Amino acid sequence: MSKLDQDVMIVGASAAGLSTAEALRRGGHRGRLTLLDAESRDPYDRPPLSKQVLSGQWEASQTALRSREALDTLGAEWILGERAEHLETGARSVRTATGRILSADAIVLATGVTPRYLPGQESLKNAHVVRTIDDALGLKPRLRKGRRLVVVGNGVLGSEVAATAAALGVDVILVGASPTPMAAQLGDYVSAMLADMHEKAGVRLLGGRRVTGVRRGWTGAHVTLDGGEVLSADDVVVAIGSRPATDWLAYSGLQLDDGIVCDSFCRAAPGIWAAGDAARWDHSELGSIRLENRTNAAEQALAVAADILGAGAPYAPIPYFWTDQHNVRIQVHGSVANNARLRITDGDPATGRFVAFAFSPDHERPVGVIGWAMPKQTRMRRAELQTAVAPTH
Ligand SMILES: Cc1cc2nc3c(=O)[nH]c(=O)nc-3n(C[C@H](O)[C@H](O)[C@H](O)COP(=O)(O)OP(=O)(O)OC[C@H]3O[C@@H](n4cnc5c(N)ncnc54)[C@H](O)[C@@H]3O)c2cc1C
Repeated sequence: MSKLDQDVMIVGASAAGLSTAEALRRGGHRGRLTLLDAESRDPYDRPPLSKQVLSGQWEASQTALRSREALDTLGAEWILGERAEHLETGARSVRTATGRILSADAIVLATGVTPRYLPGQESLKNAHVVRTIDDALGLKPRLRKGRRLVVVGNGVLGSEVAATAAALGVDVILVGASPTPMAAQLGDYVSAMLADMHEKAGVRLLGGRRVTGVRRGWTGAHVTLDGGEVLSADDVVVAIGSRPATDWLAYSGLQLDDGIVCDSFCRAAPGIWAAGDAARWDHSELGSIRLENRTNAAEQALAVAADILGAGAPYAPIPYFWTDQHNVRIQVHGSVANNARLRITDGDPATGRFVAFAFSPDHERPVGVIGWAMPKQTRMRRAELQTAVAPTH
């Protein structure tokens, strides 16, 4: 049988799953194509949830990744609102929550991640996470001028939610383990700039603090910190990271280790691939990695589709993510270590627009490009980084 005629099933029909389906069809795949997802909505984009949707700039419908007509042109079978519960790896079949058994020649696992919770959170209606469109729509009406919000977790998501809420007039405290917001992703220097921007926008920052739990208060919720301090708020957003949505694979025999463990072609087992936030794979330059970002979801999907069609290559991208906070787009290609040395290549931090190469202490070549409100120049510098980190052999 030609690889173009295989039956392919994709579990998780969001950014990575949809991109895989589209790339398969573009590559000439004409076999049966099935997309299965636990959510009952057509695929939508998550990055706008903490930005345009929470701020009220966008209706929920604007997050749709494609129109229904465009989805129909794929000629795929869509099984939405039905969770996969077990993978029979050898037989390449999936059992769903309704007891259906779905089999295919090739299976792509693209189930993303699921948020981590704080002790005590699950029984509290005013403690929120932001992962799905329903999460964002549930939180949005509560973010009003004068209300008090504590955001727990000062990584990317927590920092974005704090920025969006502050712009709506909410009284925000951003508390987290990192000394300054997103220090792990931006390095100390740019993270300090971000902290400054938050403070100027009225966000109260409590860095280097461990949150021990959340409980019901008289009118809202109480967040407890190490040392016994208590923060009171009308609402709490918990953004303390996520874990791969792989519980359903526990008895599949696949190797799971903070993600679905794959080789350099993103293959988890014969006939089984993984893509997106849930996939951990062997990157030829960076070792075993898992990335939680939108660009990787799309790019890894292309690599997986190509491999299913017999034209695969080891997947070794330069990681990239962006974030939008207080009307500034911050972009990172590669990585920026906490103690990175920066060399400004364009603009000037003092003017609020710049691009810099980031060097780790043990590297003579730049290992990252970081851009602050200069998207075009950041992209241009990325090309130089690609040359700089390309293997020399
Ligand atoms: C609020 C928010 C803001 C973000 N902002 C940015 C940003 O600014 N920049 C950036 O680079 N990235 C951002 N991201 C990250 C980006 O959205 C993700 O990296 C991307 O969505 C990953 O795509 P995915 O398809 O791998 O996983 P997901 O988008 O999580 O999709 C996984 C799908 O699998 C389904 N699923 C899970 N388990 C099962 C099961 N057992 N059976 C069937 N279906 C299942 C889920 O319902 C879901 O639809 C953001 C994420 C969030 C939540």
